[in-house]
Amino acid sequence: MENKTSSDQKRKVVVVGAGSVGATYCYALAQSGLANEIVIIDMNKDLVQGQVLDLVHGQPFFPTVDIHAGSPADYTDAQLVVITAGASQKPGETRLQLLKKNAAIVGNIAEEVSKNNCKGVMLIVSNPVDVLTYVALKRSGWDRSRVIGSGTVLDSARFRYLLSKHCGVDIHNVHAYFLGEHGDSEFAAWSMTNIAGLKVEDYCPVCRNCSDCREQLSKIEQQVRDAAYQIISYKGSTYFAVGMALVRITAAILRKQNSVMTVSVMLNGEYGINDVCLSVQCIVSESGLIRIIESPLPPKEMQSLLHSADVLKKAINSLESND
Ligand code: NAD
Repeated sequence: MENKTSSDQKRKVVVVGAGSVGATYCYALAQSGLANEIVIIDMNKDLVQGQVLDLVHGQPFFPTVDIHAGSPADYTDAQLVVITAGASQKPGETRLQLLKKNAAIVGNIAEEVSKNNCKGVMLIVSNPVDVLTYVALKRSGWDRSRVIGSGTVLDSARFRYLLSKHCGVDIHNVHAYFLGEHGDSEFAAWSMTNIAGLKVEDYCPVCRNCSDCREQLSKIEQQVRDAAYQIISYKGSTYFAVGMALVRITAAILRKQNSVMTVSVMLNGEYGINDVCLSVQCIVSESGLIRIIESPLPPKEMQSLLHSADVLKKAINSLESND
């Protein structure tokens, strides 16, 4: 049921974190014409001013949108708050220390969004995204539908790209999903992979692009898992594709699209998993998560999903440790 409020009409997006990912998202979002107002917040005020000026000078070349620096008061009437803020690893700092630092950053922002009485959706992007989505959900006190993580939306896009190239089929005719953790334990849901309307096992016999399909497909799965490492080894960080993935999620929310996406959400018993955020197939629309599509998974994929849940639970528990 549609519940129209004044914030619905505003199409206001607040982006917290004006670094590479936040700025790239703003750049792509401005061009998309989806938002009427884009507000940028970062603890580095000079960076915000610089990003705002650089973006508004492009105004003649994209649909009219009000882009400006903001403050926590801007959360109140935002339809969407996208959190890309985070610290980067310092020399000598362990992964756990970094995790704790980012959990504090994202947790505090989530609490502030909630305190400012925001009625919109919170989208977490900062890594490790699944753990930080969990932290943001707990600290906000919101319903699970309104706190989602970008999860494996990016990985699913990488998967579709590689399959499309390998099979010589337009990416728009390839539907494919990565599930689980946005990280090393993520996996290809081959059972949901569909090329030109066919399941992979039915498509391969009619495709003449390779003779050793199984080997090629498993290489593609590993390439997706390694993609971020590869890009980081070349240029230090990744931001273009994730920026565009975020625009796609934004479209689903601002345009009420009921899109199927592998966002990271809290599982409350789905697949027998509880109290952990990870990526499964979800329907995303104006109010965030509309529904989890609990598709039956074959045993191997089910095992991989449980493994991801286990890895993530350990990471969540490590936040409580004194190390
Ligand atoms: P970056 O260092 O360029 O930007 C991070 C920004 O956060 C900085 O401008 C910093 O000033 C700001 N910040 C730090 N603490 C803050 C606070 N308390 N309040 C407001 N702002 C604060 O990093 P980036 O390359 O833009 O990456 C941002 C995050 O996105 C990282 O955690 C990265 O790992 C993650 N990321 C996620 C995905 C994904 O698919 N989920 C993909 C790429 C990157």
